[in-house]
Amino acid sequence: MTKEGRFVTAINCMDGRVQLPLINYLKSRYRADYVDMITLPGPNKILAEKKDRCALRSVKRCIGISVNLHGSGLIVLAGHYDCGGNPANKKIQEKQTKKAAKLVSSWFPNVRIICLWINRNWQVKEIK
Ligand SMILES: [Zn+2]
Repeated sequence: MTKEGRFVTAINCMDGRVQLPLINYLKSRYRADYVDMITLPGPNKILAEKKDRCALRSVKRCIGISVNLHGSGLIVLAGHYDCGGNPANKKIQEKQTKKAAKLVSSWFPNVRIICLWINRNWQVKEIK
């Protein structure tokens, strides 16, 4: 059973500055009606390091609801400029985001995953 409307899943920082930029981007670029927002401080670091088992379990459960109950077919992972939870620079964060994507892909192998960077002007860019 899937819900009405197009859901996408976002694993994003809890930072208030990056919520609307990401939602607006996903609505325009991926025609999302709703964004299921899973937030942690510096989620790319947490998922790349795989140390916080409790956080990993929680994120996996949230993605499961978004994918299985809401019918989301897209998971995005975002890192951002000036992140309190992950003070690493853009280059390192991009690597962590890609590593995080591999973990999420192992959990949900049939769902498309995209890595994003939100820059100092709060613009969303895809990480190639
Ligand atoms: Zn942050």
